[in-house]
Amino acid sequence: MKDNVVIVTGAASGIGEAAAILFAKEGAKVVVSDIQEENGRAVVDKITGAGGKAEFFKADVSKAEDNKALVDFAVKTFGKLDIAVNNAGIGGEANKIVDMSLEGWHQVIDVNLHSIFYGMKYQLAAMQKNGKGSIVNISSILGKVGFMGSAAYVASKHAILGITKTAALEYSAENIRINCVGPAFIDTPLLDQLDDELKQQLVGLHPIGRFGKSEEVAELIFWLGSDKSSFATGAYYSIDGGYLSK
Ligand code: NAD
Repeated sequence: MKDNVVIVTGAASGIGEAAAILFAKEGAKVVVSDIQEENGRAVVDKITGAGGKAEFFKADVSKAEDNKALVDFAVKTFGKLDIAVNNAGIGGEANKIVDMSLEGWHQVIDVNLHSIFYGMKYQLAAMQKNGKGSIVNISSILGKVGFMGSAAYVASKHAILGITKTAALEYSAENIRINCVGPAFIDTPLLDQLDDELKQQLVGLHPIGRFGKSEEVAELIFWLGSDKSSFATGAYYSIDGGYLSK
C-alpha cells in the first residue's frame, strides 16, 4: 500500500471512516472526503496522529464538479490516483412508492447513484494516466433484493451493480479493476433512523445473529482495492452474515 493514493468518499463516518483508517494503517496516502467537514477532519487527525498520511477534501458526491475537484485534489496533493472507494450514501425517505415524494426519490438517486457515475468518470481518467487502478463501489444486499419502503435506495443499489459491470468491461484491459461490495445491515449512524424494535427484527434476518461492523466491511474493501485481488473485476461481493443465503 505504501505507494498508493486512495480516495474514500463518505469517510467522515461508518464504513468509509473504517476503510480510510485501514488503508492509511497499511501505508497508503488517503484523501478523506465528505460533506461533514468537522468529522472528516477528525478522521484525518486520527490517521495522522497514528503516523499515517491523510488530507481532508470537502465534496458533495451528488455534484459532478465536486467529484472532479476531488480527483484533481488527490492528484495535485499526492501525485496520482490508484484506488477510489465510492462509499458516500444515504438511506433517504422511508415510504412506500405511492407515498414517496418526488424530492425524496431524486435525493437518493442523486447521492447514491449519480455519484457513482460522476466519481468513476473522473477517477477512471486519472487512473488511465496512472496506468493502473482499482475502484470499489459500495452497494448493499439491497443491490440484490428488495426492501419495503426503500424503493429509491434499493433501485440505486441495484444500479450500482450494472454500472460496475459495465465499467469493468470498458476498463479492465487497461489494468483498472472495478468491483462492488454489498454489506448487510452494519452498525453505523446510517441506522440511527430505525427504531429499536425494527432493529431487533432486522438482526433476526442475519443468520450470524448480529449486525456487521464497519471494520469487517473495510477488510473486504481493502482487499478489493489492493493488488491482492488482482483477478477480481466486474463482480459483486456480499458481506452479509448470511443475509442473502436464505
Ligand atoms: P454513515 O451515515 O455512517 O456514513 C455515510 C457518510 O456519507 C457520512 O459521513 C455522510 O456525511 C456522507 N455523505 C452523505 N451524503 C453525502 C454527499 N452528498 N456527499 C458526500 N458525502 C456524503 O453510513 P454508512 O453505513 O457508513 O454507509 C456507507 C455506505 O454503505 C453507504 O453507501 C450505504 O448505503 C452503504 N451501506 C450501509 C449499510 C448499513 O447498514 N450501514 C448497509 C449496506 C450498505
